[in-house]
Amino acid sequence: MRLDTPTLFLMTVVVTFIVGVLFLLSWSQDRRSRALAIWGVAHLVGAGASALLCLRGIIPDSLSIGLGNALMLAAYGLIWSGVRSFEGLRPAYRIALAGGLVWGLACLVPAFYASLPARIALASTIAGSFCALSAREILRGRVEPLASRWPAIILMSAYTVLYWIRVPLALFLEPPPASRVVESPWLPVLCFVGVLFTVAIAFVLMALTKERAERRQRLAAETDALTGLANRRAFVGRTEARLAGGGDPVALLLFDLDHFKSVNDTYGHAVGDGVLVAFAHLAEAVLPPGAVLGRMGGEEFACTLSGCDLATAARIAERVRAAVATVSLAAYPRLRIGVSVGVAATAPGEAGEFEDLMRQADAALYSAKRAGRGRVVAAEPVAYGLAA
Ligand code: GH3
Ligand code: MG
Ligand code: MG
Repeated sequence: MRLDTPTLFLMTVVVTFIVGVLFLLSWSQDRRSRALAIWGVAHLVGAGASALLCLRGIIPDSLSIGLGNALMLAAYGLIWSGVRSFEGLRPAYRIALAGGLVWGLACLVPAFYASLPARIALASTIAGSFCALSAREILRGRVEPLASRWPAIILMSAYTVLYWIRVPLALFLEPPPASRVVESPWLPVLCFVGVLFTVAIAFVLMALTKERAERRQRLAAETDALTGLANRRAFVGRTEARLAGGGDPVALLLFDLDHFKSVNDTYGHAVGDGVLVAFAHLAEAVLPPGAVLGRMGGEEFACTLSGCDLATAARIAERVRAAVATVSLAAYPRLRIGVSVGVAATAPGEAGEFEDLMRQADAALYSAKRAGRGRVVAAEPVAYGLAA
């Protein structure tokens, strides 16, 4: 198969343009993702740049070489701006557009404009730098696990290497005569690889956006909106996963705030909400690392502890209860918070059932309420004094 250079050039322009339009269409459906709009504009600018570069020899060189490359570098800068916006940073448009401006100014210097190696070296340095910066920003955002993050980093890094390798090659190798550049069998291959890269980068950027939206929806579906803790469904799922792990005992702590209705009645629902949030934060701070804490609904919370026998779990529950009892709100000095806790645990080596554990913890909680509230009751008698 022969790769025809003008056809490939045309394909580059059309593909880049279509990708730009697709980005803008995606943005129109989710206007909060500004990165999509920036990437859309970047690709449209890139399509314009490709068109000018393709028309070399047909239109004046100042337009093809000068403006074409300036726009191409602006497109790379905008891709980087989009990546910054995606990662929650300022898009830094001025720096993004500075690359094209530097190129334009350099072209005004006759000695530079006349030197093909100098032109290749400058354009490749700037384009490679924006790719490297994009790879760096995507790498920095890796605390947010997205499947396409590493493919995006690898692609951006590959682009960087390809561009930067051109700099010493252009400066230290004898440049071919201008006529041979156009006839070179490598030109269509390079053009083809360029189109593939454009499509691949667009694909991973789209994938990153889609994965983020899905991840946020999944997290929202698993999170209690008021406290930010796992909701009942997520809590049950995580606890069942721990129980299925087998081996280590699993303890379940069930918390129910005491006389919470009267907090609402006396201070209002908003203060009640504040108390629920305060309890969630306090419990998170007091519970050991690895504990799964969730809001089961209303003023009921639950916690799962792995590798924890009943006595240890009851001791930890007592620590939370005692910490809650000391809480006082400056604005409401008379407001006191109390919590009753029921604790149950599986025996070591026993594959427990969630429903079983829940029933035992619930019965223990009921006993705590009946015994006067503000206390911890374990499913079986155990010693759990704070000093123990
Ligand atoms: P007990 O000591 O027996 O647990 O009494 P209680 O008043 O805590 O229990 P009860 O079940 O009678 O009342 C729970 C109250 O929690 C009733 C309900 O209005 C309130 N509540 C449930 N969800 C929320 C919420 O999201 N925000 C606020 N502010 N109140 C809530
Ligand atoms: Mg309750
Ligand atoms: Mg209650």
